[in-house]
Amino acid sequence: KGLKKYFPIHRGMLGKVSGQVKAVDDVSFYVNKGETLGIVGESGCGKSTTGRMLMRLLEPTEGSIEFDGKLLSDLSKEEMRKARREIQMVFQDPYASLNPRHSIGKILEEPLIVHGIGDARERKKKVIEFLEIVGLSSYHAKRYPHQFSGGQRQRIGIARALMTNPKLIIADEPVSALDVSIQAQVLNLMQDLQKELKLTYIFIAHDLGVVRHISDRVGVMYLGKMVELADSESLYSNPLHPYSKALLSAVPVPDPNFTREQILIKGDIPSPSNPPTGCTFHTRCPFKMEICTKVVPVLTEVEKGHSVACHLYNEQGQQ
Ligand code: SF4
Ligand code: MG
Repeated sequence: KGLKKYFPIHRGMLGKVSGQVKAVDDVSFYVNKGETLGIVGESGCGKSTTGRMLMRLLEPTEGSIEFDGKLLSDLSKEEMRKARREIQMVFQDPYASLNPRHSIGKILEEPLIVHGIGDARERKKKVIEFLEIVGLSSYHAKRYPHQFSGGQRQRIGIARALMTNPKLIIADEPVSALDVSIQAQVLNLMQDLQKELKLTYIFIAHDLGVVRHISDRVGVMYLGKMVELADSESLYSNPLHPYSKALLSAVPVPDPNFTREQILIKGDIPSPSNPPTGCTFHTRCPFKMEICTKVVPVLTEVEKGHSVACHLYNEQGQQ
């Protein structure tokens, strides 16, 4: 709720603070138990920073995070340790996140050791169990990360995230680095695991195509803000924010009888250290109005379960 992450900008050799980057700027959302929330946006929109704050890998500048009815900031050390077991992350580049000098068995055992789960025998058993759950087998435990393909490495990354029996998995572009044919396999695996293990997912991606089939709800981020948040069906059939419309224009439509309004956005994403005034999308928006450069649009529910931050949908904009 109200999550913010501002990074100071240091300039010159003396590292004097000369400004700040509002990487995440007042973002609020929830994810229901057992569902998948997709979070989508271009690089630099704050989606990974948001994921890292939920994991407590980064401290929020402001805002609160509630998990399973408890405010994370209120937890004791012991409770926080438990919460950490229950929230795990899958990263974009499994190779970078797997220690090249450790065998897969050791990599998968590590979270169990860190959290004091089981004795050596039980841990070994669990490693094999989870290798099999992700479609690998026991003999892979002795091998090293470089001996695996990208898709297999992501399976290992997923197995590692599952070792502590988490409830929530934050997957940060888990398939972006993989070939398209392999992407579908990993997505299917993740969906099967979700059903089997009753997992909740926050699935971060840079395009709407990837999260379409996996997400129950989708949030679209732009320059540190959530600009649209809706049930998947509603977002894909009726995107409201001009940025979401543009992102969807880029996703191929499988049905040749269906044409979607094509919206092309011009230019690059502005620097988050010097974001445009008012609606931060106004420099690229084909529907820009006078109010857009002056007033920040607030994320507002305009239909049941469908919120958007754009002046086209409020009274001031429609006057
Ligand atoms: Fe475009 Fe204005 Fe809506 Fe921003 S608020 S997306 S500039 S119409
Ligand atoms: Mg990222």
